[in-house]
Amino acid sequence: MRREVVTGTGVQHTDKSSVQTADRISFSRPYRASRELTNVEAVLKSDHCHGDGPFTAAATAALARITGAPHVLLTTSCTHALDMAALLLELEPGDEAIVPSFAFPSMANAIALRGATCVFADIDSTTGNVDTNAVAAAITDRTRAVVVMHYGGVAADMDALLTLASEHSFAIIEDNAHGLGGSWRGRPLGTIGTFGTLSFHDTKNVHCGEGGALLLTDEVLMMRAEIMREKGTDRARFLRGQVDKYSWRSIGSSYLPSELNAAVLAAQLAEFDQIQAGRHRVWSRYAAELREWASLAGVRLMTVPPDRKHTAHLFYLRMPTANSRHNIVEYLAARGISAPFHYVPLDSSPAGLKLGHTPRPCVRAAEFASTIVRLPLWPAMTDREVDRVIHAVTSFRA
Ligand SMILES: *Cc1c(COP(=O)(O)O)cnc(C)c1O
Repeated sequence: MRREVVTGTGVQHTDKSSVQTADRISFSRPYRASRELTNVEAVLKSDHCHGDGPFTAAATAALARITGAPHVLLTTSCTHALDMAALLLELEPGDEAIVPSFAFPSMANAIALRGATCVFADIDSTTGNVDTNAVAAAITDRTRAVVVMHYGGVAADMDALLTLASEHSFAIIEDNAHGLGGSWRGRPLGTIGTFGTLSFHDTKNVHCGEGGALLLTDEVLMMRAEIMREKGTDRARFLRGQVDKYSWRSIGSSYLPSELNAAVLAAQLAEFDQIQAGRHRVWSRYAAELREWASLAGVRLMTVPPDRKHTAHLFYLRMPTANSRHNIVEYLAARGISAPFHYVPLDSSPAGLKLGHTPRPCVRAAEFASTIVRLPLWPAMTDREVDRVIHAVTSFRA
């Protein structure tokens, strides 16, 4: 159950649905791009199926265009890109990294895998993102990094964080799995901190089944990252003819995806604008057509501060109580609509209790996690399906 909640597939309660499977509205559906099959076929016929071939180059160039990042490395997942960030920072036992309580476990794992300590900080309930005051209060002389997860593709308030980062010289890691194409005051998400990461898991806006990317602005970090990603060798430099043999240079692992994944990713990125337009169409309808119901029912809709461009990765409601959240999830399930909640706060999860440290209770994260419900959203959702969700939600009485 917990695993299903964390992965966000929204399967809870669906077995209780009385509606036929064909009429069920799932929470999310992976996008299908038109050139996926032709691209995959081209890879299989080319005899270059391992990583770093022409589709990796095409997908990398597309990501550099969308994000403006000077350096982009495709990885096998967002989790692995976060692992690379922890390795590049040379986190070690005794080091601390501040992580929002309401977040996906990947970065907490990356920190724990290095033997460093996760320090959990509370969130700002207007966006679900890490709260700057909570970060400021959690800083010690051992703080090496602060993790920012732009929840739903809505940027965290970066101003104060950037000031704190330069005062205390720690790195900012942007877990930008939700935020490809989003921005904060015109600055693309994933390029504001020291590291930015992306996910191409098939629940994300753009996907290749499983995949990710690491975004970097620093040239020296990029050179080290390239080695780390290729089993700790300088194979990439060798292939560019910059060294005449390649050898083991540093610790690393195998973080590069195959051309088969890159082929799907390149096909999806070629349709990025259509994907985003499809998602924004659904998102904007929810925002406009649920407003009146929400204000009468004491429900808060997801909001986006005006200085941020969001990515329509998700649309959520914040119910007045945990009990009314439970009720609306059941109510929608009975109408064939899958509307899941989201993360279990890391500080109260079994691994968080064992591996982390929580200097101040994360009360807003606990409240946010217990009242949130996400509505179905994918680019090819029909207007009729959106109508059905809106009708079901607005007929619910808390
Ligand atoms: C999906 C997700 C991840 C993990 O991505 P993978 O590519 O599956 O490793 C990490 N962080 C956030 C916020 C996510 O939504």
